[in-house]
Amino acid sequence: MKVVERNNLQVMKYSCLVSILIAATTTASHAESVAQPRIIVVISVDQFSADLFAEYRSLFNSGLRRLQSGVVFANGYQSHAATETCPGHSTILTGTRPARTGIVANEWVDQSIDRPDKRVYCAEDPTAPGSSTTNYTVSAGLLKARTLGDRLKASNPQSRVISVAGKDRAAVMMGGHSMDQVWYWSGTSFVTMSAAKGPTPKIIQTTNAAVTAFIAKPASPSLPSACQTRSAPVSVAGREVGVLQAAKAGDAGAFRISLAFDRAVTDIGIGLIHELQLGNTSAPDVLAIGLSATDYVGHTFGTEGAEMCAQLLGVDDNVGRILQALDATHIPYVVVLTADHGGTDLPERNQMRGIEDAARIDPALAPSKLGQQLAAEFALNSPVLLAAQPFGDIWLARDIPGSMRSRVLEAARTKYLSHPQVAAVFTAAELRRMPMPSGSPDEWTLAERFRASFDPERSGDLLVALKLHITPIADARYAVATHGSPWNYDRRVPILFYRPGSIGFEHPLPIETVDILPTLAALIGLSIPAAEIDGHCIDLDPGAGNTCNR
Ligand SMILES: [Zn+2]
Repeated sequence: MKVVERNNLQVMKYSCLVSILIAATTTASHAESVAQPRIIVVISVDQFSADLFAEYRSLFNSGLRRLQSGVVFANGYQSHAATETCPGHSTILTGTRPARTGIVANEWVDQSIDRPDKRVYCAEDPTAPGSSTTNYTVSAGLLKARTLGDRLKASNPQSRVISVAGKDRAAVMMGGHSMDQVWYWSGTSFVTMSAAKGPTPKIIQTTNAAVTAFIAKPASPSLPSACQTRSAPVSVAGREVGVLQAAKAGDAGAFRISLAFDRAVTDIGIGLIHELQLGNTSAPDVLAIGLSATDYVGHTFGTEGAEMCAQLLGVDDNVGRILQALDATHIPYVVVLTADHGGTDLPERNQMRGIEDAARIDPALAPSKLGQQLAAEFALNSPVLLAAQPFGDIWLARDIPGSMRSRVLEAARTKYLSHPQVAAVFTAAELRRMPMPSGSPDEWTLAERFRASFDPERSGDLLVALKLHITPIADARYAVATHGSPWNYDRRVPILFYRPGSIGFEHPLPIETVDILPTLAALIGLSIPAAEIDGHCIDLDPGAGNTCNR
């Protein structure tokens, strides 16, 4: 059967090139298999590492199973060092790394801004009256690159760009500057940007009502049988993770780590496919879906317990529902699934499982503490160092006199490097001199990884890499595990392409998430000047044909 399909596919390609007549002799199902997609669906599963995909792929029996019959890159890369949600989502549909998207972190320090914490949130409009890092006005204004949606709309205003996600930054970074619909969870309901126009789709009201009812009741989730063997308690910071726990009535925080969260986002995505009749014109429509719950589950419980097992089977189910909804439209579509970054387990369980150097960060590495030492040494007013986190971008206070800055910076670097948990420290000047990395991302040096998420306008004065297996959470009462490092467990993500009816294949060699945009653009005949992006088109044809040369 496979051979027959392959032969027909070859006929189809030939027919596209030379003769409509030959195409007319092929069956409708095969014509559909190579038809230009009119609905482009991009699913991002927050914190879905290549390691989790490898560990769970044999357990999937719904959507994530079907996507494995498409083109599977089990070894994709968010190639940059700043492996966080906002930078990661900014690469998926722009074809550019954070160095060019300008989204260098979830939050960065801007010492020129008129607010006490001097921090800026990646998906806010810091110029909007009243916007702050904790109560921000959602905007794509800080994204310096254009998304697939932006490019599609510029070439054909009929195209529609829809983005829905658990997190606002996921929705905004995948959607871009010209979204027709954008919806995300506010903490109490699904909302849109204040600048959005037009009536609220019915599915939003229905979903918000269902979520309100869900939160009002206590929940005691049941563990799928496939996850039973993973259920074992691990003690951390006075509580237990590794076994499913019940949620109290009225706990909106528990909603984010429940299966209901991604299910609600999926309901909205499917509802919008129907309500907006996506794909009903010749201009392709884009639907970005950000499934954010996997990240909250990873942070709250780690990646290797019963909680993550139940969560990923939930993702499998939601992806299956999205595919069913797309099938029901009878419109040609393409689905891409990837992640914004990877992740690793909590150090306590990693320790139990043979990772002997797994540890939590030494609280002495807090930038405020190192800054106090520098202030005493140089007779400066605190704070000397500013940062959103105890690793990655670190800024030198701008009121340090110019004559002293290079000495203070060098002293700060020395202090970091003398700590046994620090792997490397780069200065902004060093990274600015480096060319953008090229070649296979698994072989990049640490400096190259940092270069790929370095923007001279926004990045820190020092960039600090902790050693492998160091979790940068000293106090594990709220979050036990995280990501954000330049190490491959945080960089590697699956990249799956699926077009119904087309023949799939699996490739073990690395590609990058920035390759997704040019690959999709080639499928719909959208031309993108190579100089504008960092990615390359990936040929999705398993044989002699080439989807990049349509
Ligand atoms: Zn996260």
